[in-house]
Amino acid sequence: MRYNKGATYFFNYTNEVEPLTRETTYNFNAGPSALPTVVLERAQAQLLDFEGNGMSIMEMSHRGKVYEAVHNAAIERMRKLYNIPEDYEVIFMQGGASLQFSMIPMNFLSEGETAGYVMSGSWSQKALKEAKMQGVAYEVASSKDNQFKNIPMDWNVQDNTRYIHMTSNNTIYGTQFKDIPEVNVPLIADMSSDIMSKPVDVSKFAMIYAGAQKNLGPSGVTVVIVKKDFLETAKEENPTVLQYKTHADSNSLYHTPPTFGIYMLGEVLKWIEEQGGLEAVDRQNEMKAGLIYDVIDASEGFYYGHADKDSRSLMNITFRVADEALEKQFLAEAAEAGFVGLNGHRSVGGCRASAYNAVPVAACEALATFMKEFQAKHA
Ligand SMILES: *Cc1c(COP(=O)(O)O)cnc(C)c1O
Repeated sequence: MRYNKGATYFFNYTNEVEPLTRETTYNFNAGPSALPTVVLERAQAQLLDFEGNGMSIMEMSHRGKVYEAVHNAAIERMRKLYNIPEDYEVIFMQGGASLQFSMIPMNFLSEGETAGYVMSGSWSQKALKEAKMQGVAYEVASSKDNQFKNIPMDWNVQDNTRYIHMTSNNTIYGTQFKDIPEVNVPLIADMSSDIMSKPVDVSKFAMIYAGAQKNLGPSGVTVVIVKKDFLETAKEENPTVLQYKTHADSNSLYHTPPTFGIYMLGEVLKWIEEQGGLEAVDRQNEMKAGLIYDVIDASEGFYYGHADKDSRSLMNITFRVADEALEKQFLAEAAEAGFVGLNGHRSVGGCRASAYNAVPVAACEALATFMKEFQAKHA
């Protein structure tokens, strides 16, 4: 049975469940995650022959005119959608957000300086660990004692702080910054799981980075938006490809970039424009997450959310079924009904629905209905 789709439960002769199809699947994966169907269809149509060039975009030189136009258009779309000021660079890199954890202190943290980390979850912990390998770093604030249920807003900034690092959306715990405290040191944000999900005042940040695979495209591309005067303060004794300056000075074409990923990223940005831009996408995301949070809040404790209400993420909705045995059954029945990716992160358990930009409203409606019906059956 695929939920709400009228299909009947089906076993073939080897007693295996019928394979899922795109039409019978609600993809709530945390990352890599859902991409807009129309983007995949357009990529499919262009896969063998890109715009009459007789070959795939994957098969051509990154130094050729055709690819270069795709590359520059993706950067331009990024700039326009985020209203990125002229004095910022937009860089495409590889290595994921995790490489950024190392590269940031490598490039910006020198002896005699310290870096401040806002601890709001597992990714912040990983970022801090890498900083400590490169130099001196400390915790500006932490919500660890509250099991990372809230966004720590009380920041304690020490003298001589080179930069402050924060995670704008905590993919695993399901919390998200709504406002950014004012600080007078360069602020760096890991926006891997909420980049391009809403308008952002880029000028508040010295640097923003994100792996593409949650909200921007396939894995393999990492976006870095960095202020030029901050970039100029970077150290220059690092290996060439591990210096931001190398990539900024060569328009992200110092070496072969992840060309197909950048093409896909550009198509996802085009799709965001077609949705009406970031304000429209933000409204949609609020509505989608609201559908599921409303069911949790109206359930009288049958479901409960992990995050404190004022810190709730619109991207990753983390919750539990109060009765642990029922929780297992909930996840099993949901999987049977075509909901994919609802298991919480292996480090925290429970349930998590990731409702990134590309997850349709209909998927969130179906999940809300499924949750209500499950409760009605088992409460
Ligand atoms: C997924 C994620 C990462 C890790 O990204 P990789 O590209 O796998 O290195 C880092 N930070 C946040 C907030 C994430 O959601």
